[in-house]
This record gives sequence, C-alpha cells and structure tokens, in this order.
Amino acid sequence: MNASLYRALWGMKHLLDGETHKALSQVRRNEWLSQDELEAMAWEKQKRLVSYAYDNCPYYQQKYKDAGFLSGDLKTPEDFSRLPLLTKNEVQNHVDEMVVQGVDPSRMRKRFTGGSTGTPTMVYHDVLADLSMWSIYLRTVARWGILFGDKTAQVWGLNRQNAGDVYEHQSWWHRTLKNNVMMDAFDMTQEKMQDFGHLMRRFRPHLVIGYASAMTAFARFLEASGGAGFQPRAIWLTAEVTHKFQKELVERVFHAPVYDQYGSNEVLHVASECRYREGLHINTDFRKLEFVDEAGRSLPLGEQGQIVITDLANFAAPLIRYDSADLGSFLSRTCRCGSGLPLMSKVTGRIHDMFVLPDGTQIYGLKFSSFFYNHVDKVSNFQVHQTAKDHAVVRLVPAKTCDRETLSVQLLKSFREYTKGQVTFDVQFVDSIPNEASGKYRFTKSDVSRPTTHTSEGS
Ligand SMILES: [Zn+2]
Repeated sequence: MNASLYRALWGMKHLLDGETHKALSQVRRNEWLSQDELEAMAWEKQKRLVSYAYDNCPYYQQKYKDAGFLSGDLKTPEDFSRLPLLTKNEVQNHVDEMVVQGVDPSRMRKRFTGGSTGTPTMVYHDVLADLSMWSIYLRTVARWGILFGDKTAQVWGLNRQNAGDVYEHQSWWHRTLKNNVMMDAFDMTQEKMQDFGHLMRRFRPHLVIGYASAMTAFARFLEASGGAGFQPRAIWLTAEVTHKFQKELVERVFHAPVYDQYGSNEVLHVASECRYREGLHINTDFRKLEFVDEAGRSLPLGEQGQIVITDLANFAAPLIRYDSADLGSFLSRTCRCGSGLPLMSKVTGRIHDMFVLPDGTQIYGLKFSSFFYNHVDKVSNFQVHQTAKDHAVVRLVPAKTCDRETLSVQLLKSFREYTKGQVTFDVQFVDSIPNEASGKYRFTKSDVSRPTTHTSEGS
C-alpha cells in the first residue's frame, strides 16, 4: 500500500485512541530533553518501579529482604545500584512469580524470547509496555528517515508471534495491510532467497531488518545473482554482533546505510544508532542501563562491563537490574544530532556461528535454540557444539522433571531434520556447561570454519 495512504488510515485510528497518541507524542519529545532532565525522569521511574514491585510482588519483596533491602531504603541512585541483580536463570524459573498481584489478565501480553543469546525464556509485558516498545521503535527508525507506514522487509527468525508474516504464508491483502514482508532466517534455501529477492524488487521496502549473519548470506546471494535491484533507505542489522565485513557487504549490495541497535532478548529496543552513527543512543526514558563488573558493581564511564537493564515501562512483571550477559560501555561524548539520549558503545560478545554441513550448506546455529521452546521445563541449560562437519555434541543440563530418553529422541528428530540428516549428534547429560574463556556463554558454537572471501572481522 502507498505509505501516505497507509499513514492516513492508521493515523485516523490512532487519533481516536488517546492512549496511543499521547504515548507517541511524549516519546518524540523526550529525545530532545537535556541529559539532566532525562536522568531526573528515569530516577522518578526507578523509584516508582522498585516501590511498586516491593509492595505488589512477593518475589521481589523476598529477594530484596534477603539482601537486607527494605521498603523506603531506595533514596539515591547509588542505593539502586546496590539492589541485587536479576539473572537469566531467575527469569526462566520464576517468571510467573514475577507477575505483580492484581494485574488484569486481559492487559497482559506473553512473549517468548529465543534466542540470540539464550535458553528460550518467556516474559510478560502489560499493554503499556508494548506501547512504549512500539513508540521507541518509531522514534528509532525516524532517525533513519523511516516514517510510520513505510514498507519494511525482514530476514528474521520465525517464531510464534510472527509466523503469519512469513512471505510464503502471506496473502496479498495481509501484506498490504501490514506493509511488511518476511523471509524466515532459519530456512534460507537458494530457492527461497531467489523468491524473496523477486518479491522485494516488486515490493520495494524502505527499511530492511535482519539478523546480521542471515542478511550477510542474503546479500551474498543477491550479489552473486546480479544485485539487489532495489534500494531501501536504511538497513537495520540486529540480534548479534555485526562485523565490519558484514556491514560493508550489505551496504554495497543494497546501496543503503546499515544501522546498529541493541536490545536484549527480554527487553527490546534498548539503544540504537542515529544517522551520524557515533554510538548507540540509549533509550533512557524507558530503559535504565548500567555496566557492571563481575561482582555486580557499577563501572565508571567508558569501562566495559556486563550490561544490566531495567525496563522502566513494564509494571506487570518487572525486570529490575536484569543481567543481560552482554558486554558494552557508556561513551562520554555527545552526538552531533543534539539528542539528549546518552551514547553507549556497540555491544561486543554476541556471536552465533553459522554451521557448515558436509554438502556445503550453511545453516543458522541460532535455530537450535528454538527447538527447546517446547522443553523449557525439562532443560536448565544446553549447548550444541559442532566439532566436525558431520558431528556435533549436544550438552544438556537436565531439570528435575526431565525424562532423558524422551527428550533425546524428540530433540534429535528436530536436529536431524534441520541438518538434513548429514550430522550425527552425541547427546551428553551433564551437571554444568562452562563459559568460554572470554567469560561469555555460547549456546551454539562450531569448530568448522566457514568459507569466506573476507578475513577481517573487526567491528
Ligand atoms: Zn545522534
């Protein structure tokens, strides 16, 4: 659908909806507040969120009491940084307990997070948190010249939420209403890349969004088959670290700038580049970010540490001081664009290997995580480790309720189908799985090197 017509139709709908209109206007104004004003706004939200969680969520109340923190103890930002961290394991095992008492179930949204860096997790949001996510998304892409209603194309992992948007299943009217097309990043055969390339040349998206490695594979395919044949205004690579060679390749093939952004699996839209690309603007009006050392202590400006996120918009199932296990740092400089939203570095340390099969096909390692969606109650941790082209080790840390035999059979069936029967899997039940030497945990990794014409991988 023509973008102007799209905006007009949806604009009328949203003007009638006061809540949406108010949120969008406020988010747009926030970007131009001063850093002091933004900090003051965030601090008020921090106090309100912690106090609300303490009074309405027995899980947080107990957690904080155990740490010697009582209601009313939060008086300064330094007090906040002494609150105990929330780990990924806690979210996985206690997500239902983290829902505050008395929430109207009709205002709750469930979201499964998959996997760029983690064991599948379920989180809850209230509708207002969803609205803030959408508002931040629109603010982010507006910096790149993308307006609400402009056409988007995605190379994205298929999951429960977006299954209807994958291009093979989309009817013409569905595509027109959404102004969005998607190719499944987990199922990128030569035929599908060719079909999607044809579709994109007709559809002519303004914005292309994709996993960095999947977009790299798609760009390589298009380049080898004569070029993209269309020119979006912006490309958004996400879900994993974008290497310099990937950015250069994608910019060359699509003739459009690539922008980086950061969001954790559990908290989306944390920070993103503006058109000057001098760092990622942190959305501090909705996300409180800290960079901490291994002991959980806040680090000074410029020092790299683990990223700790507080979602200031979600009062239904709060995520307070959530340890994302990603690495990054604050930047001390301000941006030429004039926004008061502070800058952070690009995130380092999120890498997912493509797996190379014996016949040369490359498949997406991240996909293995999605096979655990139906087994989150049976597995505490896992790792799929390709040791040779035709061999991989599956390490599983079983939960108490795990029927090992049944689990192995079910997982291996999916793994074998995904790897086209070319890989044998050795399942090992273990007590724990160590981190990499870097300190980062990898759910999938491959010792098989990928064929590439590029050697520099600095970002
Ligand atoms: Zn900027």
